[in-house]
Amino acid sequence: MCKTIAITNQKGGVGKTTTSVNLGACLATLGKRVLLVDIDPQGNTTSGIGINKADVNHDIYDVIINDVHPKDAIADTAIENLKLIPATIQLAGAEIELVPTISREVRLKKSLQLVKHMFDYIIIDCPPSLGILTINSLTASDSVIIPIQCEYYALEGLSQLLNTVRLVQKHLNTNLQIEGVLLTMLDARTNLGIQVIEEVKKYFQEKVYQTIIPRNVRLSEAPSHGKSIINYDPKSKGAEVYMDLAKEVIMNE
Ligand code: ADP
Ligand code: MG
Repeated sequence: MCKTIAITNQKGGVGKTTTSVNLGACLATLGKRVLLVDIDPQGNTTSGIGINKADVNHDIYDVIINDVHPKDAIADTAIENLKLIPATIQLAGAEIELVPTISREVRLKKSLQLVKHMFDYIIIDCPPSLGILTINSLTASDSVIIPIQCEYYALEGLSQLLNTVRLVQKHLNTNLQIEGVLLTMLDARTNLGIQVIEEVKKYFQEKVYQTIIPRNVRLSEAPSHGKSIINYDPKSKGAEVYMDLAKEVIMNE
């Protein structure tokens, strides 16, 4: 059985892409067959995993707008079990182009159904908005992982996000669950980080992952080399914590 997980938070810079790439890479390293789906027009997951956008033949835009078969958009990565449906800048038009189309919210879901049997996990890296691309992602998913940066204002905007999740549950995808809440970019030297952890745990309780992602320079360097942390520096703290997260995700199966 394939599990589809959307990595979502409408705030930018909270670690969605870092989590998508590295959780995907770690699950694949643990033997799972993983498909990453980049649905952010910025395409950071695409370049971060080492795919040159200029070489992309079909991307997620072609899949959801032009009815290209998702199999024809799947690209290989440096990790054998890890595949990717890339995003390029043409996806930026999709928010507007989808508005007048029929079944606009379920396009991604319908497409991914065609390739689900090939994978154990599909991980969708969402854009920093609650627009139609995120709605498509939530509709296509079994669950969501919400990364929260351990900074002041961490909880700001979360009620909007949870409201969107509830609306999707009510109207489009009754099975959608919260997979987990992931605390990211913790600076252990500050008290602020500890306060944020407490606040988030009070709010989300057992949904918060035991694994907390610290700030780690290697994690921020890896994308510019087009590598996941597993290929860039497998002995780093960043690799260790994302491996821990992957094990927690597998335990939740
Ligand atoms: P989002 O996809 O939510 O916008 P990113 O994953 O792109 O967020 O992260 C924002 C920036 O922070 C990127 O430059 C990324 O490399 C960096 N970053 C993410 N997680 C960490 C971390 N744990 N330690 C250090 N830098 C990080
Ligand atoms: Mg991103």
